[in-house]
Amino acid sequence: MTDADDRNEYEVLKEKVLKHDPNADVALLDKAYALACAAHKGQKRKSGEPFVIHPVAVATMLTDMDMDLATVIAGMLHDTVEDTDVTLEDITAQFGEDIAYLVDGVTKLKHIPMTTKEELQAENLRKMFLSMAADIRVIVIKLVDRLHNMRTLQYVNTDAQITKARETLEIYTPLAHRLGMTKIKWELEDLCFKYLEPEAYASLERAINQKREEREEYIANVLAELRAKLDEAGIEARLDGRPKHLYSIHRKMVTQNKTLEQIYDLLAIRVIVNTVQECYTVLGIIHEAYKPIPGRFKDYIAMPKPNMYQSLHTTLIGPQGKPFEAQIRTWEMHRVAENGIAAHWKYKEGMDYKVSDTDLKLEWVRNLLDNQKDIDDASEFAETFKMDLFTDEVFVFTPKGEVKVFPAGSTPIDFAYSIHSAVGNRMTGAKVNGEIKPLNYKLKTGDFVEIITSSAPGRGPSRDWLNIVKSSEAKSKIKQWFKKERRDENIERGRDAVEREIRRVGCTYAQLMRDEWIQPMLARHHFNSLDDMFNVIGFGDVSAQKFVGNLYSEFQKEQSTADDAAELAKKAADAARREEQQERKYSESGGVIVKGLDNCLVRLSRCCNPVPGDSIVGYITRGRGVSVHRTDCPNIVSMSEGENRMIDVRWADKSKSSYVVQIGVKAVDSKSLFMDIVKAVADCNLSMQAINARKTRDNYELVDLTVEITSRDELDRLVRKIRRIENVVDVSRTVR
Ligand code: MN
Repeated sequence: MTDADDRNEYEVLKEKVLKHDPNADVALLDKAYALACAAHKGQKRKSGEPFVIHPVAVATMLTDMDMDLATVIAGMLHDTVEDTDVTLEDITAQFGEDIAYLVDGVTKLKHIPMTTKEELQAENLRKMFLSMAADIRVIVIKLVDRLHNMRTLQYVNTDAQITKARETLEIYTPLAHRLGMTKIKWELEDLCFKYLEPEAYASLERAINQKREEREEYIANVLAELRAKLDEAGIEARLDGRPKHLYSIHRKMVTQNKTLEQIYDLLAIRVIVNTVQECYTVLGIIHEAYKPIPGRFKDYIAMPKPNMYQSLHTTLIGPQGKPFEAQIRTWEMHRVAENGIAAHWKYKEGMDYKVSDTDLKLEWVRNLLDNQKDIDDASEFAETFKMDLFTDEVFVFTPKGEVKVFPAGSTPIDFAYSIHSAVGNRMTGAKVNGEIKPLNYKLKTGDFVEIITSSAPGRGPSRDWLNIVKSSEAKSKIKQWFKKERRDENIERGRDAVEREIRRVGCTYAQLMRDEWIQPMLARHHFNSLDDMFNVIGFGDVSAQKFVGNLYSEFQKEQSTADDAAELAKKAADAARREEQQERKYSESGGVIVKGLDNCLVRLSRCCNPVPGDSIVGYITRGRGVSVHRTDCPNIVSMSEGENRMIDVRWADKSKSSYVVQIGVKAVDSKSLFMDIVKAVADCNLSMQAINARKTRDNYELVDLTVEITSRDELDRLVRKIRRIENVVDVSRTVR
């Protein structure tokens, strides 16, 4: 092919872009084409053609799918960063972030090793693929890229053909299916079928071609009849005989064990109309013209498929009693049916609201998820992506290119244990993408992880690892190691803990560690020896408190049935000790015993200052214990009228050492009264704490004094002495 031909291809592309959007920035497209030509200059495809025809073809296919210009340009540049001197920075500088982001996404996906033999592995790869792509447009470019490569696969050798075809069937076609990109999916499947099972492909192709004329004539008849009826109803529609793709016929023959003749939806037509209303009108017309087969009608308009597919499906008995299938849909539905998510992209672009890339991506994801809830077909469900898991999982590679899935937040330790316990137990470090990383490094999707181990004896996991790891597998394997490998250490640790606990409960080892109590416990745990028990205690599975607690309750049971005499003697001693304690408490609390309460706060009231020998009563205060008043205290008389908060109290035998009392003295016209009272107190050998005098309005002399006494006798003596002072008319205990 010559340069002129390439330019021709490119001119076609440019026309298509302008047809799609007359305002498209074709200058930018020109720039991309120029860069691709320069970058791939001298590179040849296996066909011998200049390499640049590949990116031009990819960009053209993307344009045919109505993708936006950024995607088309990214398609043009998709192989430049990987295979040429062009850097991502160059692309960012010349084409902006959005296009650079897409090119980078496609480049990254090339690093995923795609070959695998296991089905589970394939699913992980697909998930990883999707989660790494981040932007769905990256997947679209990648699928189109793969389709073009598959179309031109005849130029590579047979081994490469088989490898590519298998990879395509395992990874790419399920992705295309899930994204609803049916057109690409079918073409990819047929190409894979051709390379993987060339004989089956050829014979099926032959068989179908043999009856082609007959079939086409039949379909043409149906279409003509239908066209007349639609014209009559004034419905504008495109009518097609629907080609079935070979791979799906092949799958049906294999899985349902049928011959080609038994697959009757080989005869199929498609009606495309402008409105949803017309879909149902056409359905009515068809059902009137031909007899429908019961149970074959499906309304995917009301109930779209998980990949957003919408259409009406029905099967009818046609001319000569041969059944045929009809699909009825609008043009919008047709676009979605062929291009899936790529068509969805176009709708969003066309709609007049701005959405960021992230919003759009999230909406797709949500859409896929929402639709998945309606799936009733179990096998289809198994095939659909569990996209909601993506944020909870990371996908990383082993050095051999195997994919492993971990809970988000997992570390190289989780990775090591997923390979083998021995790898985890002997690990000393980890390399991620070739660089040494700390053990608590959080794995990211796409990381290549390599574990560094040591064969030196005495190494093993650290207890801290239990707090770092995320997967339950790693957790249980680390625990297991401590249980097994550190048995001696655990036994010692466990025995120590048990001994400490025995001392704490106030017993001796011999008192509690008795065979008749221990054996049943060992049997319950299926342990062979006491060491097994110490092992789990030392490891932390069973607490020493629990173990000793069980023994101690056995011990107590035994003690309670022991010698009665010893028990009684002990009780008597206890009682005596309690009484003694109580006496001490009485003296501390002002020498007052409160009936029925032996441990409450008691204080002598400051209003009437009771002293031993006074008749007293207790008043239960709010929050300050019992206050003790004289029974003649006027305050207590008024207080006792309310709720019943009085309590009986009595003076204890052993009293407090001193009490403070207040005495009021009333006298008439006595100039020496003050001095006489001071002298009386001194005569009684009491200590005066306060004294003051004042005159009343009716000329009485009043003296209040506060003295400290040790007994009621002393008080009585003082009162008698004061009464005898000249001109004194009254002496009384004062009450505040
Ligand atoms: Mn490519």
